[in-house]
Amino acid sequence: MKILVLNSGSSSLKYQLIDMTNEEVIAKGNFERIGQGNSFLTHKVGEEKHLIECPVENHEAAIKVVLEQFTHPEYGVIKDLKEIDAVGHRLVHGGEKFASSVVITDDVIEKVKECIPLAPLHNPAGILGIEACKRLMPGVPMVGVFDTAFHQTMPKENYIYPIPYEYYEKYGIRRYGFHGTSHRFVSERAAELLGGQRDDLKIVTCHLGQGASLAAIKGGKSLDTSMGLTPLAGIPMGTRCGDIDPAIVKYLMENEKLSIGEVDTILNKKSGAFGISGVSPDFRDIEIEAEKGNERASLALNNYNYLVAQYIAKYAVTLQGIDAIVFTAGIGENAGTTRKGICDKLAFMGVKIDDEKNKTRGQEIEISTPDSKIRVFVIPTNEELVIARDTMNLVK
Ligand code: AMP
Repeated sequence: MKILVLNSGSSSLKYQLIDMTNEEVIAKGNFERIGQGNSFLTHKVGEEKHLIECPVENHEAAIKVVLEQFTHPEYGVIKDLKEIDAVGHRLVHGGEKFASSVVITDDVIEKVKECIPLAPLHNPAGILGIEACKRLMPGVPMVGVFDTAFHQTMPKENYIYPIPYEYYEKYGIRRYGFHGTSHRFVSERAAELLGGQRDDLKIVTCHLGQGASLAAIKGGKSLDTSMGLTPLAGIPMGTRCGDIDPAIVKYLMENEKLSIGEVDTILNKKSGAFGISGVSPDFRDIEIEAEKGNERASLALNNYNYLVAQYIAKYAVTLQGIDAIVFTAGIGENAGTTRKGICDKLAFMGVKIDDEKNKTRGQEIEISTPDSKIRVFVIPTNEELVIARDTMNLVK
C-alpha cells in the first residue's frame, strides 16, 4: 500500500509518498511560497534532489505539480497515480470534535471548518489540501490526523483556564495542546523501550523544535501539555514567548503605542530565544555566540533550560512521579548541551545522564546512567509515519 502524506501550510505544502510494505519514503518534498509568484518545489527521490521553479497560484496547482513528479518520465517513482491508495492529511486543530484520526467525509470537512476560529491560519490550508485532492484524485480515500487529538484525554481540571467559565462555553477557550502526533509517537516508542505499555507508566515527552511543547503522559494518555488554546503557550521557542504574564500585552500596547496585532507579532515572531539573545531563532547560532562569550546568547539558553526543567518537574505533580523523559525534534534530537543543561537542573530528582552517550545526535539512544532514578531517552520523531500508519489502518 502506498500512502501520500500531505502537510498543507498557509503558503507551503510538504509531502511524503510512503510505501507501507516497508514504511520507506519513496519520494518527498516541499513546495514553498505558494501563491506568491515565486513559488518553487524541492522534490527528493532518495539522495537525488530536483528543484522545480514553478509559479503556482494555489494548493490545488501545487498538488498537481507534485503528482506530476511522482510519474515523471525520468525520475518518477510510480507508473500511475492509481498506485496511490490513500492520502493522509495533517490537520492542526480538531477542537473538541476529534479525539483521534478520521476518514474524511463531507461532515468531517464541515467540522474542521467549524474549528477555523481556533486556528485561523492553519485549518483553512488543511481544507484547501483536502479539497484539491478530492478534485485531483477522485475516489481515493483520505484521512485527517489532528495535532490536537492526542491531548483530548486531558482531564477537565487540567485543560480549563481560570477565566470566566462562559468563555469556555461560548468560544471553546481552553487548553488544547499541539504536536500530538509527535508526543504519541515518541511516547509509544519509549513505552516499547521500557518493556511495554502499562497503565501506570509515566512519561514526559519534550518536543523541542522551532515550535516546542512538553506532554505528561500516563499509560499512553496525555494528561497535560504545555501549549494551550494556541501554539504560543508553554516553554519559550525559537521566536515565540511561551508563558508570560498576560498583563504584558496591555503594558506594551500602552507604552509602545502598539496595536493588538503588532503585540501578537512581537510575541509570536520576535520573542523566545531570538527575543532574548537578539542573535537568531536557531539554537545552533545561539550556541556559537554563547561560546564566544555573548552574554545575552547564554542568557537565552539558560532561561530555556530553566523553563523546560521547571515544566518537567511540574509534570511530576501531574503524573505523581516520572519513569522516563524523552527528548525529540530538532533541538531535542541534536542539541546535547541543551539536554544536559535541562537534565542537570533535575539532578535533585535523581536524573543523571551519561555525557558520552549524550553526545549522540539524531539517533535513538538512552542517555541516562544505569543508576539514574528517571530514564532519559532521545527518540527521533516521525510525524509523517504516524499519519501514514493511521491512514492505512483507517482505510484498510
Ligand atoms: P524542528 O522544528 O524540529 O525542525 O527543529 C528545528 C530547530 O532545531 C532549528 O531551528 C535549531 O534551533 C534546532 N537544531 C537543529 N540541529 C541542531 C543542532 N545540531 N544543535 C542545536 N540545535 C539544533
